[in-house]
Amino acid sequence: MKIKLKLYLSAITTMVLLGVFSVLLISFFTLVERELQRADVAREFIKSSSGVSVLVGNYERNPTSRTERLLEKKLGDLDQIVAESENTVSLVRVRNALRSLDSAFKRLQENNKERQKIATEGGTQKEHNRITFMEQRIATVLRTEVQKILDAALVIDAEAKANIDLIHTRGTLVVVAFSFALLFIIGVPALLIAKGITEALQKLVEGAKTLKGGDLGHKIQHEQADEIGELVGSFNEMADRLRSHQESLEERISERTAELEASKEQAEAANRAKSTFLANMSHELRTPLNSIIGFSGILLQGLAGPLNEEQSRQLGMLKNSGAHLLSLIDDILDLSRIEAGEVVLDWAPFDLVDVVNRVGASLSPQCREKGLALEMQIPDQAITMTGDSRHVEQILLNLIGNAIKFTDQGTVTVSAKLNGDRVHIEVRDTGIGIKDEDLKRIFDSFYQTDHGLSRRYAGTGLGLAICKRLANLMGVTIEVESAEGDGTTVLVSLPLGEESRATE
Ligand code: ADP
Repeated sequence: MKIKLKLYLSAITTMVLLGVFSVLLISFFTLVERELQRADVAREFIKSSSGVSVLVGNYERNPTSRTERLLEKKLGDLDQIVAESENTVSLVRVRNALRSLDSAFKRLQENNKERQKIATEGGTQKEHNRITFMEQRIATVLRTEVQKILDAALVIDAEAKANIDLIHTRGTLVVVAFSFALLFIIGVPALLIAKGITEALQKLVEGAKTLKGGDLGHKIQHEQADEIGELVGSFNEMADRLRSHQESLEERISERTAELEASKEQAEAANRAKSTFLANMSHELRTPLNSIIGFSGILLQGLAGPLNEEQSRQLGMLKNSGAHLLSLIDDILDLSRIEAGEVVLDWAPFDLVDVVNRVGASLSPQCREKGLALEMQIPDQAITMTGDSRHVEQILLNLIGNAIKFTDQGTVTVSAKLNGDRVHIEVRDTGIGIKDEDLKRIFDSFYQTDHGLSRRYAGTGLGLAICKRLANLMGVTIEVESAEGDGTTVLVSLPLGEESRATE
């Protein structure tokens, strides 16, 4: 049964019970009221009949007309009480007694008139005795009838009190019985409903926790077809849907992963093929190019005969172009080797100060040519480290070469210093600088900030890409700080290596 229906039933039963209870209470109050009225009537009778009794006694002793009037009034009061109380109390006995009382009183009055007449006319002793005798008889009747009224009033009073006690006892019983009934009708269903809801909620909370923990197969058991049952049903359905959704998701993820892996393998294979092709082609290009450079050098030296000025100029251009092409091919070859994983590092101890000085010396003619100052702030002592000195030299050549290339006036400063188990080399220039948006991309292959037909600086856009990849292989980091028009600083941090040490 639905919880809503249970609650409605309980409420309706409670209302019916309360209605019956109210009706009973009202009738109890009415009954009590009636009995109280009866008791009041009885009290009035007792009071008035006592008064009549006293006046009868007085009249017997001293039959004055005042006592007679008072007695008449009292009897009138009794008549009035009977008339007013007939609806409340059954007064048959009282009425009969009152009727006898009235007729006895009338006889008493007549007797009294006769006594006065005898007293005035001077009657005989016999007449006098008869009047007295009659008077006593009538007084006895009067007392007897008053006593009857008194008795009837006492009975009415006692009955009223007894009835009030009975109503009180029954009322108490009804209140207790209704209290228990209400408790049973409201309390027991409320307890059962609360217990059902609490247990179901507990199950739902545990189910939600299990679901959260990843067990989507968990089912909550609840047999009753009430609102909680519907909630539990919806919860189980939701868990089912989540499970099937998760399963299809997992299926799709594994399909996509397989596709991605296949694509990755294809891409890697294609990249390897490209690198191998480039390496082969570069190698094939280098041989004839070296011949062109070598032979143009021989011709320029005049070993094959004298040359005129124009021939020397053109041969010089041929040799320079060949050299440029060779450096481009060398760069492509280097990058291909690195990407194909063919670079073998020649790990050995070497003096870094020596390498930096050598690079500085080899580039100082270029500096001089451009009118730049080259400042070397290098320690006097050797810094021995373990690594591939040839590749370290290649990186430094490129970085210091770039500093010279992109600086038109000012100074290129190279400094090196030990910092814990690393050596920090800084290449600082006063050149054109790099824009913020370019800084993120200068390590990409073939990326150049100076491009297009108006290019001022020669280059391939491969130098920094090669440096970065070589640095990664050797555990070296390269960071660039720069602002457009405000020079560039490149920071290189090299590990000293296991067997390295700084020599004093
Ligand atoms: P490139 O052969 O063009 O020098 P790099 O890979 O060495 O190629 O450098 C990539 C680009 O980074 C350069 O074209 C240049 O625009 C910028 N760059 C590198 N070093 C500097 C520097 N010291 N000052 C200004 N720009 C630089």
